[in-house]
Amino acid sequence: MNIILLGPPGAGKGTQAKLLQERYHVGQIATGDMLRAEVKAGTELGAIAKSVMEAGGLVSDDLIINMLRKRLAQDDCRHGFILDGFPRTVPQAEALDAMLAAEKQDLRAVILLKVDEDVLVERIAGRFSCAQCGAGYHDKMHPTAQAGVCDKCGSTEFIRRPDDNPVTVKQRFTAYNQQTAPIVPYYQGRNIYYEVDGMADMDDVTIAIEAALRKAGIPAPVAMSAD
Ligand code: ADP
Ligand code: ADP
Ligand code: ZN
Repeated sequence: MNIILLGPPGAGKGTQAKLLQERYHVGQIATGDMLRAEVKAGTELGAIAKSVMEAGGLVSDDLIINMLRKRLAQDDCRHGFILDGFPRTVPQAEALDAMLAAEKQDLRAVILLKVDEDVLVERIAGRFSCAQCGAGYHDKMHPTAQAGVCDKCGSTEFIRRPDDNPVTVKQRFTAYNQQTAPIVPYYQGRNIYYEVDGMADMDDVTIAIEAALRKAGIPAPVAMSAD
């Protein structure tokens, strides 16, 4: 199953993609996480991406599409993938269609998480993640069970994204509205497009996504698995 989670910054794409990855055993591809890894590794792409991300803009289509092409060829995407943060422009959506067509694959579902802007601001302001395993948290909405300790791996180190500040967030909303929102009509005409209320509690959003996936012909996994 190849699916896309769409939505503005802070909508819950990463949170839901991680859950779906575990439940459905498919690769999660978060282009934002990939770019942050490039920045950390000090690569050429990372150097270019860093300034763009700090300004709240979008990294150029060519660079992103190249990065994604390599990622899709990796082993964990053999049985499908969940895209989180890609596509973000119409040319990216077109490039994805071309890549899938070349592999005789298709998109099974495109799911838009709808969340009001004031809630997005709140979510982004409280967002932090584990420096060790990447697990995502929120100061109020999803704190760690034990203060200062990651639920997943026990690490005591956490990070906040430098671009999660009020000034950059404004720019990211503008980029979303101007460059990313136009991909909604790109998919809307196809019978693979679904909208989910992303304002609901995390568990309810997961349930709504799974209902959309069932409609798309992707049955819910039978049991939770440990791996
Ligand atoms: P969010 O969680 O707010 O949706 P991401 O982690 O997905 O943000 O992305 C962080 C930043 O990385 C974006 O603001 C943008 O600069 C860059 N980025 C991520 N994915 C893409 C993409 N598909 N195209 C262009 N830029 C991207
Ligand atoms: P995105 O990847 O779309 O930018 P995230 O998944 O990182 O968004 O979520 C943004 C923040 O909001 C995180 O701190 C996360 O813990 C929190 N969050 C995600 N989904 C919900 C929800 N349904 N209700 C409340 N908080 C949420
Ligand atoms: Zn952790």
